[in-house]
Amino acid sequence: MDQTDFLIIGAGVVGLAIASEISERFPKDIVTLLEKHPKFGQEASSRNSEVIHAGMYYPENSLKAKLCVEGNRLMYEFCKKWSISHERTGKLIVANTEKEVSTLESILIQGEKNGVEDLKLLNRSEIAALEPEICAKAAVLSPSTGTVNSHSLMKRLEQLALNRKTIIAYKHEVLKIEPENEKYRVFYSSPDGSLQSVLSSWLINSSGLSSDKTASLMGIDIDEAGYLLHPCKGEYFSIPPSKAKRISHLIYPPPFTDLRGLGIHLTRFPDKSVKLGPNAFYIDEEDYSVSPGHAADFFNSIKDYLPFLELKDLTPDMAGIRPKLQKPGESIHDFIICHEKERGLKRAINLIGIESPGLTSCLSLARLVGNMIIEA
Ligand SMILES: Cc1cc2nc3c(=O)[nH]c(=O)nc-3n(C[C@H](O)[C@H](O)[C@H](O)COP(=O)(O)OP(=O)(O)OC[C@H]3O[C@@H](n4cnc5c(N)ncnc54)[C@H](O)[C@@H]3O)c2cc1C
Repeated sequence: MDQTDFLIIGAGVVGLAIASEISERFPKDIVTLLEKHPKFGQEASSRNSEVIHAGMYYPENSLKAKLCVEGNRLMYEFCKKWSISHERTGKLIVANTEKEVSTLESILIQGEKNGVEDLKLLNRSEIAALEPEICAKAAVLSPSTGTVNSHSLMKRLEQLALNRKTIIAYKHEVLKIEPENEKYRVFYSSPDGSLQSVLSSWLINSSGLSSDKTASLMGIDIDEAGYLLHPCKGEYFSIPPSKAKRISHLIYPPPFTDLRGLGIHLTRFPDKSVKLGPNAFYIDEEDYSVSPGHAADFFNSIKDYLPFLELKDLTPDMAGIRPKLQKPGESIHDFIICHEKERGLKRAINLIGIESPGLTSCLSLARLVGNMIIEA
């Protein structure tokens, strides 16, 4: 592995989707993907709600809105084509107070602006017809929200990339990047612990929670560029199957006003488990434990709209960490997907802050990166 045409850093769902896309669009070129863990998707891509979002929350014309709406369509097509386990469950965003009802109205308007055309406002009796066990005076129904088995999705993307001759190297951590004759010399640790390097014409940074650090390896001042990430944890609690079977849709409250999370919701996972979560709080150190002490907060957030649940039904389950550009107290930030030619880094693309809806958007993100390469 001395030279490559494209070097992608990080084998989460986004890096894998980019590897699959680029190796299809540039079949004569060598595509290499380096990942520090022994297998794909060990970070955010396997620690999330596995929801295929519809795209109604995000500001109009933002990358999040555009890529989510396009990604939703691409994801269903892809899952059907490659027999990936998924379900068009539909989702209800529920409201019980006047303030929450007005939030639902704003979501409807935002959804329409974003091109989500199938949203519907339901009254109490329409909600009862769909979900007799929940308590809500109004709800937005999103029929095109669903779930996908993220492991099967990543496995298929990995297989497509490999079939198209991508070199995928696990246990290879990128440690240093140096410019060399208009290319990039990328130093990485290999499984035997030795430091090796590869020269690449293109560099694509899809390293998730570490993508700000990877950008700084390229020589970018991440404070000045606004690339510094603020890890924000989300925990989940599972509920027993006997209670889980009483609900068939995904049930969400109105989102947090700063959109740091979508509110503690109920998700039916593709493996048939049902979980509540995620909450959203900023952390200083990577830690995937779930605090049993948070059960009471979870219960208080959901008891008004899921009245059949009791505190004792909640069991600590898993946690994920969002790579947020938004600092505590700030409002939502968009994805950063930037060809860094203005910074003198020709043929280097950074993807920073790829939090939700990054899973939904992985195929549209990959397509956008492919288009940026062609434009260059
Ligand atoms: C709690 C939570 C819930 C979510 N729910 C949803 C949802 O329901 N729907 C949705 O659409 N999105 C959701 N998301 C967002 C989604 O999970 C992410 O947007 C997506 O997984 C990001 O994928 P990625 O490939 O960019 O990052 P990651 O999956 O984090 O992958 C980055 C990879 O880069 C590797 N890496 C880092 N540094 C290096 C290095 N120096 N060298 C080599 N490898 C490196 C890492 O090991 C990692 O494997 C959620 C996220 C969280 C945390």
